[in-house]
Amino acid sequence: MVETVIVFGERPSLLVDASGLVAELLRNGFSTSMIGITVSNGDVNEAARYGFDKLYVIEGAVLPDQVSEVISKIFNEVKPRLLIGSATKTGNDILARVSAKHNLPMLTEVLSVSLDGNNIIFERNILGGRAISREVTSKHAAVTVPIKKFKPFEISQKIAAIEKVSPPVSNVRLVSFEEKKKSEVNIEAADTVVGVGRGFKSKDDLKLAFDLASIIDAQVGCSRPIAADLKWLPEDVWIGISSKKIRPKLYVAIGISGAPQHISAVDAKVIVSINKDKNAPIFKYSDYSVIADLYQFLPVFIKKLKEKTIK
Ligand SMILES: Cc1cc2nc3c(=O)[nH]c(=O)nc-3n(C[C@H](O)[C@H](O)[C@H](O)COP(=O)(O)OP(=O)(O)OC[C@H]3O[C@@H](n4cnc5c(N)ncnc54)[C@H](O)[C@@H]3O)c2cc1C
Repeated sequence: MVETVIVFGERPSLLVDASGLVAELLRNGFSTSMIGITVSNGDVNEAARYGFDKLYVIEGAVLPDQVSEVISKIFNEVKPRLLIGSATKTGNDILARVSAKHNLPMLTEVLSVSLDGNNIIFERNILGGRAISREVTSKHAAVTVPIKKFKPFEISQKIAAIEKVSPPVSNVRLVSFEEKKKSEVNIEAADTVVGVGRGFKSKDDLKLAFDLASIIDAQVGCSRPIAADLKWLPEDVWIGISSKKIRPKLYVAIGISGAPQHISAVDAKVIVSINKDKNAPIFKYSDYSVIADLYQFLPVFIKKLKEKTIK
């Protein structure tokens, strides 16, 4: 039986990324017709080539209540088995609104999916990453997926029909708009990340981390206190359950204790940690553990790396 699914992405690139969950379902033998919904700020024509049967594009600057209204309307028309979105702040916000309206169970940050007859089984982290919850649905559900978690569809010759949608009038009046200060960095897309934590004594000392990052071609991210309390780095490089989730090939954690709220947002192939406390929890998650004072270790390590790079 072919089941309809709706995938929403607040940007076309996020739409394509979130549709990876559908690609995973297909690999598990699920038959589906896939409807995409996005907002017109990105390459919509490119997104239309990623396996969608139909693509709705909401036009104009739109607020979450307007977007959720559009999704709700399409939801009523097609009655999809699943409503899928990105596990971004906006994605979670909008899908929660639609779920509440349609009495849908909602699962955030789904990490795996499989089928058992008519049941769809999802796995997701709970209790700040301390446990994995297995949740089964035989009916409708809304789910959000972390960015880059599932391999998306290959680009194809099939191009989805695009329908432009004007958003309804919002119940919210936008009084003013202030752009949040952003770093140049997209930490979630980085292949190599150097993470800094409270082991650093001052903002100036972060230079050590940036020096290391420039040698190994990494982006610098941080634990919550560095961005939220000390404000040494912008919030868009704060790594953790309350902020950015990263999936680099290499994560170098420096002066970070390894609290579950931080480490459960790190899905790295290799983790290297530098911490002076041999009992620091971060070492449980690390492939390579350096028990050292960062102020003694980093200058020597950076010097050695530089010598190696110059040769
Ligand atoms: C609801 C909730 C949500 C949260 N969300 C997040 C989140 O999204 N992201 C996040 O990061 N945190 C989050 N937290 C906070 C989290 O619990 C930790 O408090 C935080 O991650 C700790 O940051 P840290 O490791 O930098 O600092 P600390 O825990 O203070 O650790 C500093 C580490 O540096 C080491 N160190 C000190 N000096 C040196 C030195 N000279 N050389 C080497 N090592 C040294 C210490 O041994 C220690 O292990 C959240 C907490 C709550 C309650």
